[in-house]
Amino acid sequence: MQSLEQADASAAQKMMECSLCGLAVLYEVFGRRLPVLEPQIEWREDAYLRSDPFSSRRRPLAVGGRCSVCARDVCVAATCSLFCDRRFCLPCARANRDALPAALRAELDKQP
Ligand SMILES: [Zn+2]
Ligand SMILES: [Zn+2]
Repeated sequence: MQSLEQADASAAQKMMECSLCGLAVLYEVFGRRLPVLEPQIEWREDAYLRSDPFSSRRRPLAVGGRCSVCARDVCVAATCSLFCDRRFCLPCARANRDALPAALRAELDKQP
């Protein structure tokens, strides 16, 4: 596999796989902080983080997360997971639709 991401070997990278779409993404840390960057920047959820090679500000980039309901790993594509206070995979979001905030329900309704 050749990709842009593989060229960035600046940190030890691991792979997570989205349990819904099967997308495999490289990440550096599962948590809220990327110690190699600016440790004072805390992400808003425990997520699969990596440094953003395209950002001059070197902020963490979330490439995936873990569903707060079923704990499966999902990527951050809107077709796989939604985030509002906590992350929901799409099947869990649908199953708990009535409990979701209105903004999230609207987001969910956009998905096929
Ligand atoms: Zn996915
Ligand atoms: Zn779930």
